[in-house]
Amino acid sequence: MFMTGYAANLMAMVKAKNPNESEFHQAVEEVVESLTLVLDRHPEYRSAKILERIVEPERAIMFRVPWMNDAGEIQVNRGFRIEMNSAIGPYKGGLRLHPSVNLGILKFLAFEQVFKNSLTTLPMGGGKGGSDFDPKGKSDNEVMRFCQSFMTELFRHIGPNTDVPAGDIGVGGREIGFMFGQYKRLKNEFTGVLTGKGLNWGGSLIRPEATGYGAVYFAQEMLATREKTLEGKICLVSGSGNVAQYTIEKIIQFGGKAVTLSDSAGYIYDEAGIDEKKLKFVMELKNARRGRIKEYADAFKGVVYVPVDPKLNYNPLWDHKADCAFPSATQNEINGKDAANLLRNGVYLVAEGANMPTMLEGVRIFLDAKTLYAPGKAANAGGVAVSGLEMAQNSMRVPWTREEVDYRLNLIMKSIHQACVQTAERFGTPGNYVNGANIAGFLKVADAMMDQGLV
Ligand code: NDP
Repeated sequence: MFMTGYAANLMAMVKAKNPNESEFHQAVEEVVESLTLVLDRHPEYRSAKILERIVEPERAIMFRVPWMNDAGEIQVNRGFRIEMNSAIGPYKGGLRLHPSVNLGILKFLAFEQVFKNSLTTLPMGGGKGGSDFDPKGKSDNEVMRFCQSFMTELFRHIGPNTDVPAGDIGVGGREIGFMFGQYKRLKNEFTGVLTGKGLNWGGSLIRPEATGYGAVYFAQEMLATREKTLEGKICLVSGSGNVAQYTIEKIIQFGGKAVTLSDSAGYIYDEAGIDEKKLKFVMELKNARRGRIKEYADAFKGVVYVPVDPKLNYNPLWDHKADCAFPSATQNEINGKDAANLLRNGVYLVAEGANMPTMLEGVRIFLDAKTLYAPGKAANAGGVAVSGLEMAQNSMRVPWTREEVDYRLNLIMKSIHQACVQTAERFGTPGNYVNGANIAGFLKVADAMMDQGLV
């Protein structure tokens, strides 16, 4: 959509005030496009400058993280926590450890998180954090020393009623454990300050599975609107980490066939399908041995491995015959050409496990083609939803069963789906899950901000 007037001025202001933060501009632009529909009907948001406030983090913390490697050399990384919006609950959102991490990437993630958390129906504000530390190739001891140093600063900014971080790229159970241990030592208190904890020390069943399972539950809901199911459907999945693994586990349970997986070095195409046995191999490879996805092609017959070719202007993973796509690696992994390739190959459903994996030109192609396209803030909200359930269990000091958590996760994904469908319709764009998610997420936060005065 071409922006005019208020929306165009707002985008110009965001770009001028936040130079060199292209991912943040992209995330804001997508939301502002949807919100033009709302602002026409609700001028009170405009005069209360809700949008101008919502694009400004309530607080952005940046700090030095010094640590020592196994060779006794001093290393210095940069740590961040973006506390974006606390209108409907304590800041909540993951920590990312990846060399690409910078202020702009974390601001885009924190911004998305505000709307996503609102959609879950749980009382959680939005935040995000992390560091440019690269866990790849580091020993367990090095990762521990980094996590301890990171928490030695972060602990003074977070708390179970203030800001509750979780995992994201490069942060799984191991890292949450090291960070939780250091927090507990510094504060001398055992509280639910992080989610994604181990089961013996306050974690929730289904949390590791939640994002992937949730994305597939959401896909089932979208398919149901066209009287379809995942049974027999061919699915392209990118990534091979937490989200990709449990997306595939649930696709298998629903009778679908996942045929791809990737990491930052390349992807595998397994025409026979990734079955339970092969998925177990992937989990061991990625979560225990911390190896590369190429090894999958060495371990199983009939599998093609394609290394990343930086000269290509498209990703060949998205150029296979399929029905559904679950991008689950990282931001901007589907450009306009990839989106066109997906449609040409017969894909009619895209459910984003990753955050903002589709570039704006790709989003527009999916919307024009009436693809069942679920943006990350709706499709991958299952992860933070179960984090919210982990917080509830911590507060009550009562753990729920696997069935109970899974049941609630499924209900939440259904209610997010319904909110997207109904809101898109109410604002005159039926079937547009982007508008549905952005507007439904926004309204709750905006109304809370209106109620709470100018803060
Ligand atoms: P993991 O660290 O477990 O896995 C990330 C996967 O993506 C790895 O296979 C990794 O490959 C690949 N990847 C990461 N960065 C890049 C890159 N720049 N280029 C190519 N491949 C890359 O992370 P998660 O599975 O937790 O997260 C995946 C996505 O899902 C992210 O966008 C995250 O924000 C989103 N998400 C995660 C949630 C969660 O609960 N974990 C919740 C909601 C969203 P390699 O090992 O080579 O780096």
